[in-house]
Amino acid sequence: MQSHAMPRDILIVGAGIAGLACAISLSQELTPSIPGLKITVYEGTAGPSASGGAISLTPTAQNYLDKLGVLSALNQMGSDAGIEVDIIELFSLRSGRRLGPLRFTDENGLGYGGYKGRRVMRNALSRAMLAVIETRPNTTVHFDKKVTGGSTTDDASVTLTFDDGATATGDLVLGCDGVHSVTRTRLVDPGNRSEYTGIAFIQSITDAHDLSLPMHFNRTAVHLTRHSSLLTSYCDPDRRMLFSAAILRVNEHLIERYQTAAKLDCREQASMKMSIRYLVRTQFAKSALPAIRELLDHTEDWALYPVYQVRQRGRWHKGRILLLGDAAHAMPPRDESAAYSIEDALIFTQILSQNRHAPLSAIFQEYETARRELVNRAFDASRRLWQSDLDKGLFPGHVRGLMSPVHGAPIVGKSGGAGVGVVVANAGKGSATAATHQSFSDLSVYSLTREFQGEIDS
Ligand SMILES: Cc1cc2nc3c(=O)[nH]c(=O)nc-3n(C[C@H](O)[C@H](O)[C@H](O)COP(=O)(O)OP(=O)(O)OC[C@H]3O[C@@H](n4cnc5c(N)ncnc54)[C@H](O)[C@@H]3O)c2cc1C
Repeated sequence: MQSHAMPRDILIVGAGIAGLACAISLSQELTPSIPGLKITVYEGTAGPSASGGAISLTPTAQNYLDKLGVLSALNQMGSDAGIEVDIIELFSLRSGRRLGPLRFTDENGLGYGGYKGRRVMRNALSRAMLAVIETRPNTTVHFDKKVTGGSTTDDASVTLTFDDGATATGDLVLGCDGVHSVTRTRLVDPGNRSEYTGIAFIQSITDAHDLSLPMHFNRTAVHLTRHSSLLTSYCDPDRRMLFSAAILRVNEHLIERYQTAAKLDCREQASMKMSIRYLVRTQFAKSALPAIRELLDHTEDWALYPVYQVRQRGRWHKGRILLLGDAAHAMPPRDESAAYSIEDALIFTQILSQNRHAPLSAIFQEYETARRELVNRAFDASRRLWQSDLDKGLFPGHVRGLMSPVHGAPIVGKSGGAGVGVVVANAGKGSATAATHQSFSDLSVYSLTREFQGEIDS
């Protein structure tokens, strides 16, 4: 086979979870053997976003972050390190009845592969990833560099253009710019725009010290109604920062009005804020749980996050550009999407490093072969659960998502194409059970959900 030059100048669009995971993993894996390696991340915002609330990391996501050195950086961040979650307590919102726990542990109380769940502020996770990048000699992150387009027609290089008129040229572009990806819609798969799922998260952070009543859960709880759910979770070891997310169907017109109001004057914004607060209170305030009533009474600032998805089976690569993370496969809500994004980065790194002199087209094809089926399966499962529930006027899709089998890494053997073999080892710390797709049984998920249907009052 003809030998091709290994990409040395790698441009990454987006400093989200996928982009930063790619930068760290490529730098760690390739630096020792590729002289002159240069990895540059371009992020459109002015700095790590302060919005977005808290994110749930599954045991698998934690395992991957540990491999990248991010978990230890996070653990050094004191109260910003997030809170370990071993169970999610479920309640009926109306009656207050405890429905049972969902566990992030095996039957011995051990985390999968040594890892439990974690709830952490998105901003803290970004800062931990950036701290690891700062230790890498050849990796730079530029903020305030919004990509607007580019070209990948040249056989030997790829160029990005930015909204400030600048350009950057490299050997390889990784499009990690999220669900509304410009890399996808302008370069790789024009026309493949994100679609609204019909579901939105309405989120808020409250100082728990401002509340007088004790909470009825230890760390994290989901409160179910037949049509929506309310997640409440502490995000710090001191249990002071309380994250709430109302997860419900929201009409697309309201989303548009919300987005328009954000660009208008304070009066419009204040009026929209009141509407959102009213929506949450109407849906959740009639609860037998006094702490929930107080929380909703107290909380004024709610932010709306509509959930978008990317049409399945769209194109993932073109020329010298590859899409990863949500840019390639944003799915309906599923609390493991971050794990899929980090896994994309790890698998691509392995394929690239084992096939340094293969043409990029063969490397991209090999990557797609390794990823497509797993991602499709996850997407199908997520969509089926949400759709069938919504059709029935039920809303336990999110809970089923939470109960979905702990996502494990695929083990892909030697295959054709560029002759790439990929193994992302899943073994974690100690002798605890590793996180696999079988960690929670699908059967119990379905029977539990059926059981809940009688328990959850509308
Ligand atoms: C409301 C909500 C709640 C969620 N909760 C969870 C959860 O609890 N657990 C979980 O695992 N997953 C969760 N997810 C999914 C998870 O957030 C995503 O799967 C994950 O963030 C994808 O990472 P990413 O890096 O691909 O994209 P993103 O995190 O979206 O990062 C993309 C980055 O690219 C930047 N960017 C965009 N356009 C440009 C451009 N033109 N030029 C330069 N930079 C650009 C963005 O500013 C951003 O920094 C949730 C999603 C939503 C919407």
